[in-house]
Amino acid sequence: MKRVVVVGAGIIGLVMAKELASHGLETTVYDGKKDVSEGSEKASGILSKKGLELSGIDYKDSIVNTLSGARLHFGRQTLNVIAKNVQAYVLDRGKLAEANYRSAVKAGVEVKLGSRLDLERIRDFDDGNTVIVGADGAVSSVARAFAFPQIKSFVLTYKAEYKNAKINNRNIVDLYFSKKYAQGFFGWVAPYSDSVAELGIGITDKVKKHSMMAFDSFTGTEEVKGTIDGAELIKGHASIIPVSSRAKTAEGNVILLGDAAGQTKATTGGGIIFGIACAKVAARSIYLHIKDGRKLSLYDKDWRRSYGADLKMHAALHDYYSKVSEAHMERFIGIAKALGAESFFSKYGDMDSPTLMLKRLFLRKLVK
Ligand SMILES: Cc1cc2nc3c(=O)[nH]c(=O)nc-3n(C[C@H](O)[C@H](O)[C@H](O)COP(=O)(O)OP(=O)(O)OC[C@H]3O[C@@H](n4cnc5c(N)ncnc54)[C@H](O)[C@@H]3O)c2cc1C
Repeated sequence: MKRVVVVGAGIIGLVMAKELASHGLETTVYDGKKDVSEGSEKASGILSKKGLELSGIDYKDSIVNTLSGARLHFGRQTLNVIAKNVQAYVLDRGKLAEANYRSAVKAGVEVKLGSRLDLERIRDFDDGNTVIVGADGAVSSVARAFAFPQIKSFVLTYKAEYKNAKINNRNIVDLYFSKKYAQGFFGWVAPYSDSVAELGIGITDKVKKHSMMAFDSFTGTEEVKGTIDGAELIKGHASIIPVSSRAKTAEGNVILLGDAAGQTKATTGGGIIFGIACAKVAARSIYLHIKDGRKLSLYDKDWRRSYGADLKMHAALHDYYSKVSEAHMERFIGIAKALGAESFFSKYGDMDSPTLMLKRLFLRKLVK
């Protein structure tokens, strides 16, 4: 029987490996990190409550804060999308990684940490008797080893945590959209507690700028300065988020998953909920391939059928926002507010699924 080799013990690779091992498939995960939580501070952990509940992963011990909504700032306009109850959690990414590592190992996955694989080693696994899964992040070696099409757009990020920050509401995240410092993305202030906040920024890779410079501009703005005035910067990290998916994610005995496939929401850069959903699709596609001889390349169609429409809609919204001027966006938000966007999004908004939100809008119109 074919075995499975997963490159990357990030959250997505681990979730998929656990699914396979619990169905009795021999699954080995390789990762260059010595500790599974290494590098987890480079990313944030804001995930929808609904998405987490559906995901079936271990997350409860990783919760550091709850969020009921967001304030979206576009120049002089602010869109308040605030629900009555908890909509999202802020998770400790290190704890999340550890919990899911333990679950995978318990299910029978062999995880080889401290094992960074080069292109030659990855190609050596292609012996006809092994399924190779590239869950190795935005800059995937597996994708490179097997010449998969490239990811076309990335967002460059920089984020830092501050102690003794001035937070006016610990249950609301602030998002700042501005072409002056956050070209093609946004800056954020996400509270962890009453006094600890994460500030971060993303910029499109199309501008020739380091994300740290954008971060300095962002933290120097009038809107944000007050939050960190007198606060202590704990640590800062640069990273990268893919915001478009690869044109092909399966070929021969190889598939790509999570950030390696570009299965992220282009609007926010969130990749965990969709990555996990695709990990389950991948596990099923691999299982059917190994047990029944179903073609592995069908995985590409399988995940796009379930989640492609939502990811495309996130990409279209991101594209739209990236192209229009700031003045246009301000006017657009003003009109949207006048039409009741705040109460609609506060009641029916869905962080993950814009198609579901459209259905709700459509149904509401029908009922009226
Ligand atoms: C600043 C920032 C904020 C974010 N905020 C959120 C958020 O709030 N919510 C959300 O859902 N998502 C967020 N994301 C995105 C989220 O972090 C990713 O989508 C998610 O971590 C992808 O998981 P993954 O397992 O696919 O990849 P990764 O987490 O990147 O894991 C890949 C693993 O592969 C290993 N690896 C790579 N190459 C090799 C090799 N050659 N050999 C062996 N091992 C290798 C790496 O060491 C790594 O452990 C954010 C990202 C950033 C950068």
